[in-house]
Amino acid sequence: MSEVRHNWTKEEILNIYNKPLMELLYDAATIHRLHHDPNTVQVSTLLSIKTGGCSEDCGYCPQAARYHTSVEGNDLMSVQQVKAQALRAKSTGSSRVCMGAAWRNVKDGPEFDQVLEMVRTINKLDMEVCCTLGMVTENQAKRLAEAGLYAYNHNLDSSEEYYKEVISTRGFEDRLETIDNVRKTNVTVCSGGIIGMGEKLEDRAGMLVALSTLNPQPESVPINALVAVEGTPLEDEEPVSIWEMIRMVATTRIVMPETQVRLSAGRTQMSQEGQAMCFFAGANSIFAGDKLLTTPNPDVNEDMKLFGLLGVNPQKPFTKKVQPQTVEAADSKYEALGEKPKWTRPEHSIERNEQKKQEAKDIRKQEKQIKDLVSETESVKK
Ligand code: SF4
Repeated sequence: MSEVRHNWTKEEILNIYNKPLMELLYDAATIHRLHHDPNTVQVSTLLSIKTGGCSEDCGYCPQAARYHTSVEGNDLMSVQQVKAQALRAKSTGSSRVCMGAAWRNVKDGPEFDQVLEMVRTINKLDMEVCCTLGMVTENQAKRLAEAGLYAYNHNLDSSEEYYKEVISTRGFEDRLETIDNVRKTNVTVCSGGIIGMGEKLEDRAGMLVALSTLNPQPESVPINALVAVEGTPLEDEEPVSIWEMIRMVATTRIVMPETQVRLSAGRTQMSQEGQAMCFFAGANSIFAGDKLLTTPNPDVNEDMKLFGLLGVNPQKPFTKKVQPQTVEAADSKYEALGEKPKWTRPEHSIERNEQKKQEAKDIRKQEKQIKDLVSETESVKK
């Protein structure tokens, strides 16, 4: 029951997911106790170091430039800003900082050099450092590892079949290739997905097949419930029920016994009791901070109150793996190669929210007319 298997089939996973709930919970909680301390939960802080304006078309994401959401973009944060936020996160119980940039892929150059410096800085604060920067080459993964990166996040999002219904600007195989590139280093892999995007149960099982058959399995698997953001193609999706979330967490725990299963986006829609059941079902990691990149998240004080109620302690950094060493930029073995890999651009297309796009255009036009009128009036007054 507790062995790590890499040959799970979709049918087996569906059978687990659809078990009577009490049996499912019992099995998941039993496996959880064999591999983890049930009273410890990892706390990660997700920082958006470069927000918005992304060229990709992930249908759930308000940061995609094409979707006209209310997200305001900003340039890459400075190393000092990131250090200040990391120190704040550490003081409120986070052991890990995950830095997210709204990029299709990493490009060698000054911005990537700046991210490498952020990795060095946070590792020196004795916190686990994770990055989610889009697709990376092997050389870029090695440079991140050398800087002291602990984990790289690259979600599979859904099953291979459903992936193309949600994203058209890159292929599922690109995701796998990036994970493979990260695996050529000592950096751990964080990869999970989102439920509630209109997928079938078979797709949830398909995603778990894709993740659990990786060898080794990802050290960390975030399970997100879609936060349907106005202006994105998935804005009208119904919220995921807590029961679906509990089933998904429990099934993930059973098929990936050693992995840290993270309750990620969608926690604001969950009650304390619902979150407690997810912890019982095997979730042992959360994202902290009032924002998850751009979507809302519970306040860290609320999380700590819940931990107190449940007798749960935040996990210490480097509990699962030793802290990586940081090599300074001047001593680096790897140079920027300026590679331009041919990531795929599949031909299929997904439904865009043309109505919202038009509404946003109309609003911008009206705003411009008002601005012009105001400046005309002011110049007449003068
Ligand atoms: S999920 Fe990432 S890659 Fe996709 S649109 Fe959002 S920021 Fe870009």
